[in-house]
Amino acid sequence: MQNIQNMQKDETAEKKRELLRELPSMDKLLALDAVTPFESRIGREAVKSILTETLDEERQALLAGKTREVNRLRIERRALELLRERAASSLKRVINATGVVIHTNLGRSILADAATNAVREIASGYGTLEYSLKEGERGHRNAHVEWLLRQTTGAEAGIVVNNNAGAVVLALAALAKGREVIVSRGELVEIGGSFRIPEIMAFSGAELVEVGTTNRTRASDYERAITDQTAMLLKVHPSNYRIEGFCEQPGREELAELARRHGLVFMEDLGSGTLIDLAELAGLPGEPSVGDCIRKGVGLVTFSGDKLLGGPQIGCLVGQADLIEKLRKNPFARALRVDKMTLAAFDATLRLYLENRTREIPTLAMLAKETSALRSEAVALARRLRNFFAQREKNGKSALSARIVVVKTRDAVGGGAFPQTELPGWGVAFSIAQYGSAARLTRILRNGRYPVVTGIEADALVFHVRTLTPQDPKHICDAFADIFGLLDG
Ligand SMILES: *Cc1c(COP(=O)(O)O)cnc(C)c1O
Repeated sequence: MQNIQNMQKDETAEKKRELLRELPSMDKLLALDAVTPFESRIGREAVKSILTETLDEERQALLAGKTREVNRLRIERRALELLRERAASSLKRVINATGVVIHTNLGRSILADAATNAVREIASGYGTLEYSLKEGERGHRNAHVEWLLRQTTGAEAGIVVNNNAGAVVLALAALAKGREVIVSRGELVEIGGSFRIPEIMAFSGAELVEVGTTNRTRASDYERAITDQTAMLLKVHPSNYRIEGFCEQPGREELAELARRHGLVFMEDLGSGTLIDLAELAGLPGEPSVGDCIRKGVGLVTFSGDKLLGGPQIGCLVGQADLIEKLRKNPFARALRVDKMTLAAFDATLRLYLENRTREIPTLAMLAKETSALRSEAVALARRLRNFFAQREKNGKSALSARIVVVKTRDAVGGGAFPQTELPGWGVAFSIAQYGSAARLTRILRNGRYPVVTGIEADALVFHVRTLTPQDPKHICDAFADIFGLLDG
């Protein structure tokens, strides 16, 4: 029995060795007509490394028994696919047809024109990043946005760093290192996997003291936990989750008063952090603005620049001048400083708030869009797509049975804000019998010249129009022309 098994093993091992010998050689692949143009573009060494990668992949698949024969054509196709992939940047612009406005995977907020223009201007030349034209000497990079932050939030002072996670780390390290920070058990949250309050706390060198319960925490819970080691009361926005029902958290005024009485810092990680009343702008109630928190006595507020604010990735810290001064002096502030492109984009975005031009901020405009306007856009997109297929048939291509229907959609704010709120939207449902499942169609659309990311519902693709930019409908048609125009049938 043992022997028979061994013999079978030897046989399969021999068969595998034979298959490995059948793999095409590097020289054969290098000589392919489709491969040679890549050599002049990215160099022979880079092409060879990509071909080696392809052959290694194939070798592993054969050894693992995942492939049982050497298919030369398939290997060549895979090699070309990898070459094309590596020769172009994988950081590409895409069309967001998901209806999720602050789509974290797709880069959160898109910038206002004023902000992208400012980035281009400052990035393509030298600038006043750390230079004062008035004095003709060294200036401070934070100075460019501090006045704007004070103006838009009502805070005494402000500083910006790379992102909000960095802002929280900086604040904890500068104000509570080696001391205790009191947090409600209902606010010990994880945001997007890598940001977990207990871990951030440990990393910053502050000691977490949990109080209350998951659903209810009172001011007296905080007060009982205060010792001579306490540095801070920390409030954290639960962002991507909600506790509902029998629940309670003390008000900001109450905690501010408690912190004042005990000489503690009262900080709030607001997460998204809006600068305006979203109830008024977009019918989204219940979210305090940064200014609200400052007015209620929060000593230090941290928030992101690229969530509800609608700017670039940045982390803001605003509040009492003495606290901001301590942050400024901490070495982390230097390690987390922002670059000139980010500052330019942020400055331009804040100016839109200052000048009451918030409608020019795409995130806010998309959130505020009227349902009737969305419906008109969906109707127009559907008409465009139908025209495309009609034209295609006129050109003599055989008919594809495309189903194009204007539908209601459920859109979302995204970015961990308003997780329970559905935004009523409109879109176009699309399917083609010849292309089988919606999953297959989305894969094709994702990999075209204008990659489109869509929703799927009831085995149809759904283009949510809320998150489309003005040029996107045309690009969707161009993508369709690439995909369906060339293939016949
Ligand atoms: C999103 C979020 C963060 C992380 O902010 P980034 O800007 O992504 O670093 C931290 N805290 C809260 C409460 C958040 O919602």
